[in-house]
Amino acid sequence: MKNRYFFIPVIILLMSAAATFTAPAQVFDELRENMVRTQIKARGIDHAPTVEAMRNVERHLFVPTARRNRAYEDGPLPIGHGQTISQPFIVAYMTQLVNPGPGDKVLEIGTGSGYQAAVLAEIVDQVFTIEIVSELGESAARLLKELNYDNVEVKIADGYYGWEEHGPFDAIVVTAAAEYIPPPLVDQLKDGGKMVIPVGSPFMVQNLMLIEKNGDEITTRSIMPVTFVPFTRKE
Ligand code: SAH
Repeated sequence: MKNRYFFIPVIILLMSAAATFTAPAQVFDELRENMVRTQIKARGIDHAPTVEAMRNVERHLFVPTARRNRAYEDGPLPIGHGQTISQPFIVAYMTQLVNPGPGDKVLEIGTGSGYQAAVLAEIVDQVFTIEIVSELGESAARLLKELNYDNVEVKIADGYYGWEEHGPFDAIVVTAAAEYIPPPLVDQLKDGGKMVIPVGSPFMVQNLMLIEKNGDEITTRSIMPVTFVPFTRKE
């Protein structure tokens, strides 16, 4: 008889402990599903692999622990060193714009948290990403490895020069605002390749540009106003 009164509180304790440890993952799954529905699909992102990638990548793992509960909000978040992880919609929008496919090789400039690289890695064969702030590049590389994104390679360098050894690329995604389009990046684009880049002055509204290469012809289209952290040239 005495035993029953002992076990009931113990069982309650164990159940609540289990709930504490399992609930957050489920909560994040639900928040992410909700993000995909309200911020991604509802706003016209209909490229199926992009939607699927936004559903799969656990964005909360790419933001600092203290900001995890805000990971699925509709905006950018600080990731340290004065940099930000882009708004989910912008990540999806830029991904869809370059129309990535399964066999593709993609270059990203501005690794930051590694989130955009992970989204691309869900879709394409190989992702090469360059970050100028070594601490950010190193922690992104570590996290991407931990999460088994074996098809992503991170380099600490000035992305202005691209990554010639691995080029040319099917797509290039630049996630920092440049004053002009870096010519080496255009050179490293494949024939038929696409590049998306915010162009404009730092800390002002910039223009998201889509560049397409067809033979010798380079076409440049202005897509929409955006605000990105600046493309820097030296650490
Ligand atoms: N794609 C990132 C967004 C990062 S913000 C993400 O998903 O989290 C832009 C990043 O570009 C910053 O981390 C910044 O340090 C980096 N950056 C700025 N200028 C750069 C340059 N010349 N070469 C490489 N990275 C650069």
